[in-house]
Parts: sequence; structure tokens; C-alpha cells
Amino acid sequence: MNSLRMLRPAAARAVSASRARMAQSAVVLKPSLNSTARQITRPLSIKSLFASKGDNDQSTAIKQPILSQDNLFHPMSESPIPEIRDRATIIKKYGTCPVCNEEHHGDRAAMQSPEFECPDCGLPTHCCEEHYHKGKTEHDKICGILREHNEDEHDLRSGRPMKEFEFPSAQGFDEAINMANWDVFFYTRSFPSMDSDRNMRHVSKLLTYPITIGSVLHESSPYRKQVTPEGLRSLAAIRSILYPKVILAKDGVTMLKTETVNLYLLGARAESTLPPHIWLQLSHLFPQTPFHLHFIGPDTLPPNREPYTTFLNDRLTFTYDNAMYHDYHEKIGSFDPYRDIYFLFAPGIGHPDSREAWKPSIAKALDTKCAMFITGFDQTDVQTDVKAVEEDHGEDFDWILKPTENHFKSLKHDINLQDLTQAICANWGIWGIRGKRYEVTHNTEDE
Ligand SMILES: [Zn+2]
Ligand SMILES: [Zn+2]
Repeated sequence: MNSLRMLRPAAARAVSASRARMAQSAVVLKPSLNSTARQITRPLSIKSLFASKGDNDQSTAIKQPILSQDNLFHPMSESPIPEIRDRATIIKKYGTCPVCNEEHHGDRAAMQSPEFECPDCGLPTHCCEEHYHKGKTEHDKICGILREHNEDEHDLRSGRPMKEFEFPSAQGFDEAINMANWDVFFYTRSFPSMDSDRNMRHVSKLLTYPITIGSVLHESSPYRKQVTPEGLRSLAAIRSILYPKVILAKDGVTMLKTETVNLYLLGARAESTLPPHIWLQLSHLFPQTPFHLHFIGPDTLPPNREPYTTFLNDRLTFTYDNAMYHDYHEKIGSFDPYRDIYFLFAPGIGHPDSREAWKPSIAKALDTKCAMFITGFDQTDVQTDVKAVEEDHGEDFDWILKPTENHFKSLKHDINLQDLTQAICANWGIWGIRGKRYEVTHNTEDE
């Protein structure tokens, strides 16, 4: 089992998945990392955003709000929401006092656990009031983000009707979508109730996965400057499938020739826990195209779950499989750069604990000559992965998208519960490569 689960940093494996899921965001519990080693923060699950799971009635309309909008700030350990009190317990148990950390050079045995809650953000940040005052200048740099996190988490569980999660349906034929950034995307897609930064943060945390994919593939993609000439060739091939031309059939009937596009999401994690209907928002960007999403990797499903395939409608198919990608690859057999695309969301390719496990998977994916897009949760994460891929596969790939900040990153910060000095935004940056010696061959014309 251990060998199967080493694709992502082993650090995350130190806690059981269930506890990690409870913690919801940052899942880094590796006590032995020295202070200079960069710890990784990757969202494992976003299911808990959908608090009423199991209810037959999914609407929140009948519920009485527990918390009013002017009552969203609470010291975590005194929160009226049990889930948030649990989170305080986790931080106190596994967290770090940054002042102790500094004084004891990362030696955890000598450190006190963070029991003192900052009065401004309400999180247990330091071991005691004395250390809180000692480290306050440093803490102030992130206190505002933590306060925002505190209020956002209370808001999500406040019991108010979450109107921002009522997503729009298909696009009208005469409505053009603008993919420049979240604001104009929400506007041109007629998202209702997107009138506060908090609404945007809640929604972007979910939609960053489907819309990051959409924004790269869409013809109004915001990355014109970062896409290389090789990238243009790849995208032109893919777009010829995504935007099919009307064909005049022999009997005079016009029809569209549509082909399924496969999206291989390697090392899938949080994205595999998204409710399937969230992916409709990708579907709506390409109303002609059926998509098959393949969520592959040891964190895709809870341990020991059998792989399965399911459908939302005739244009969205999902396969979930805990296999390592290089094994899954063999099952698929043939690949087509026109119809097969890889997306790796914050894969941690350069992380020392997972780098070796990624090598054969990346090599197989490059072999296909299909486009591969990779995100990272901050600049260092992107640079670490780029460096590892350059060192391990430098001869074998061409750039298709130069590293850049993702216009559709999550606007919400994920907090590392083990180290509150770390806050990241899912899919902060994006870059793209594909296997070298790309030849345009596409045999569907003969089919
Ligand atoms: Zn301390
Ligand atoms: Zn604070």
C-alpha cells in the first residue's frame, strides 16, 4: 500500500485521509522536516464545503441562519460551529509556534504547541501570550488572511442561503464568453449574486479546477503572450475538435461532427472530490464537445475503493482510478494530441518525496505528444516543479505555455494547519509542455 501511495509527498500520508479530510485544507503533517525544507500545502478534499451532504433536501432555504453576517468572527476554539472548534484542536495538536520554531531551530520536541489565540484573527497562532507579542510583527503579515479565513469558514456554515452556488446553465448562442479573468467570466456567464469578494472566494475555490482547464483551451484564452509557437500548434489541433465545423451531409442535412475530448487529471486530489455538477461549468464553455475526465492517482479515491466510471449526462463522463498514471496509461493504449490533454493540479513533481514516483508517469505522458498543463500553488511551487521536469526530462519536451500566474486561481487562501505562516491559493500559477518531435497526424478524417 505504501508504494502505491507515494505519488504525492509522504508528508501528507502521516495523517489518515479521514482526519485530513476533516481538516479540509492544509494537510502537511510531517514533524521531521527541517525548518528550511519547504512544506507542501495541497487541498485534499473540498467536500466539506457541501455541508448538507446526506440530506435529501439540498436546499438551505428552510434553514434558519445560525450566524448573521455581522457575527462571522469567533475565536476558533469558542466557535459556535463544532467543525471549526475541531479545527482549532487540530492546530493546537499539530501546529507550530513560529517563535518557538525560530528559537529551537525547528526541533519540535523542544517546542510548545500553539495554545494562544490571536485576538485579531482568532486562530491559535502562538504557544503563549509572551511569544505572541514577540512574534507579532511577523504574524501581522498574515493575520489579515487568517481573519478572512476565519470569517469565510463561519460564513460557509452560517446557514444563510448560499446563492452564489446557484450556477448558471448553458450559454445562449448569442452570448460571448470572456475568459480574461474571474470578474468578466462571471459577468459574461451571468453568474448571479457574485457581489462580494467573499462570494468570489467561495466560488473560485471550486471553479478554479474546471475553469482553469477551460481558460487554457478556450479561444478567448488570456494566455496569448505566454503560449509558444509549439503551444499554438497543440492548441490549434485541440480547438479543431472543441469547435467543430458544420458539415453538410449527403442528404442536405447539416450536422456537427463532435468527438469526445479526454482530460487526464494526473495525481488527482481535491479535484476528484468536486461534485460532478461543478464540471458542467467546463461543459458549458464548449457546448458541442463531450468530455471524459479521468481522475488518476493514489489520492483519487479513498484507499481500497475500486475504480469506476460514471456519467452526469451524455457530454460528461468521469472515471476515477487510484492507479499510478504510468499503469493506467497502459490500459488506455493509444493517444491522440487532438483529443487527449493532461492537467496536473499542483502535482508536487519536484518535491523530494514524490519526484521519483512522478518520473515514469511524466515520461509516459510526454511520449504521447499530447499537451500537458501543470499548476502550482505559489511561485516557489511552480519553480520547483519546472526545475525538476527540466532536470529529469529536459531533452524530451517542448514548452507550450511559459509559466505565468493563473487568471483563474482560487481567490481563497488555503491555510496550512500545521504552520499558520503558510497560506496558498490553489492553482496560483500555470505552465504547459508536451513531448518533443510533434507531428500533426490525425486519422479521424478516414474513420
Ligand atoms: Zn512559542
Ligand atoms: Zn492574528
